[in-house]
Amino acid sequence: MKANIHPEMKDAVVKCACGATFTTKSVKEEINVEICSECHPFYTGAQGKAKKTGNIEKFNKKYGFNKEQ
Ligand SMILES: [Zn+2]
Repeated sequence: MKANIHPEMKDAVVKCACGATFTTKSVKEEINVEICSECHPFYTGAQGKAKKTGNIEKFNKKYGFNKEQ
């Protein structure tokens, strides 16, 4: 068994571009990220996607792509 082959894991502060910070374990002490669970569209934009579906329906209605026509 070799000792010290793994990097030392420290408490790291992750700073996101949106301003959110949280801690994790890393070999680095500070990590800067552009997207996190606070601002990722998967978490924040779920309703936006539903709206887009509505826009497609509006488009289809406007230009007569309904099944009834
Ligand atoms: Zn973020």
